[in-house]
Amino acid sequence: MSTDTDYDILIVGGGLVGGSLALALKDSSLRIGLVEALSDADRQASPAGDRALALSRGTVQILDSLGVWTDVASQAMAIRHIHVSDRGHFGKTRLHAKDRGADALGHVAVARVLEDAIQQQLDGSSITRLCPARIMGIRAGQDSALVALRHGDENLNLSARLVVAADGGNSTVRTLLGIEQKVSAYGQTAIVVEVNIGKDTNFTAYERFTSSGPLAFLPLERRKCSVVWTVKDEDAQDLLHQGEQEFTTSLQAAFGYWLGPISLANRPQGFPLKLIQAERMTDERVVLIGNAMHQIHPVAGQGFNLGLRDASVLAERIQIQTRLGEDFGNTPFLHQYAEARRTDLNRVIRFTDNLVRIFSSDFPPLSFARNIALMALDRLPAAKRLLSRHAMGYGTQG
Ligand SMILES: Cc1cc2nc3c(=O)[nH]c(=O)nc-3n(C[C@H](O)[C@H](O)[C@H](O)COP(=O)(O)OP(=O)(O)OC[C@H]3O[C@@H](n4cnc5c(N)ncnc54)[C@H](O)[C@@H]3O)c2cc1C
Repeated sequence: MSTDTDYDILIVGGGLVGGSLALALKDSSLRIGLVEALSDADRQASPAGDRALALSRGTVQILDSLGVWTDVASQAMAIRHIHVSDRGHFGKTRLHAKDRGADALGHVAVARVLEDAIQQQLDGSSITRLCPARIMGIRAGQDSALVALRHGDENLNLSARLVVAADGGNSTVRTLLGIEQKVSAYGQTAIVVEVNIGKDTNFTAYERFTSSGPLAFLPLERRKCSVVWTVKDEDAQDLLHQGEQEFTTSLQAAFGYWLGPISLANRPQGFPLKLIQAERMTDERVVLIGNAMHQIHPVAGQGFNLGLRDASVLAERIQIQTRLGEDFGNTPFLHQYAEARRTDLNRVIRFTDNLVRIFSSDFPPLSFARNIALMALDRLPAAKRLLSRHAMGYGTQG
């Protein structure tokens, strides 16, 4: 089949992870295409862009190396303290950046701010953006993969030595290749909303465990937080249908008055939560990264942090392979990449999954145990160091 354009690498999905990979490779000599389904106007209008992301220190370092952190930093908030508590119990623990000899344990940034900063860097680069465009078919051969695209009103046939699927939790690439996925529904929905608060956040992120699930208050400004409230699916329906006053009262009752009275700054949105893992990370001439490979519970704020490490490790390996004049799309290379990512991926999934199951339970022995654990943690410097290491994004790197 004749193709309209030949690429070295075709990245399908120009979200946070696909966009970051494109940026990491933008100064290479490779011909890179970035395929994104949403037009810029649709992306700007999407409420999903309002979600706040907790960024680990490791992530900030990678974003800095990609040249986007300077733009994001002025609109991001440092997390200098983390306060973990259990509703209705005494157990709590506090983590402080200064105990780790650091300025911040992490940062909080709104997803759209990050997307815009990535976009801005890509605009002046040699990356070819195909947008809005959707992948319709894919067929892999020994030396390249053939990809059929619908780009605006046109049908395009492209070839690439490597196709990177970064097209999110409902990955079309994964479906087209028939890669199975393991799905565990938590029966929970994350309600995300921004709130104004009565007291200064003092750079503190709050994680509060309630019987229905974890509740996080992430500082966005001195008196504004982004809330991620994880509740059972049936409770989410009720809460999302409540009027503003009723919802505010419910949220205040769940969180308490650590930050004074709360008022809503935008409309609450619900995100049903699942753990989705593709059964394999690679196929012939194809690799899955970010949410296309793993979609995890946002409780520990690790999804993007993990996906960015996928992109960063892949970019580094592709660059080395290119310098050596070797093929970066062949099966041995892809298997080595998958092997290199396995430990980090399994560790984050295990950590997050355990956190959800232990801290969402109102089964008395478990809630007693976590309360004791929080009290013990507060008195155990070594355990606290481990937890803050995890929050800063170092403990998860293999
Ligand atoms: C409520 C909530 C809170 C979260 N909080 C945190 C946090 O604090 N910290 C953290 O690290 N992570 C957090 N996450 C996770 C984080 O948002 C995701 O891990 C991250 O967005 C994944 O990025 P991605 O680029 O892999 O996928 P996506 O963000 O899903 O991007 C996929 C892109 O592919 C495009 N696309 C889809 N299909 C096609 C197609 N067929 N062709 C072309 N393009 C296509 C989409 O339009 C999109 O732009 C949170 C998630 C949620 C839901």
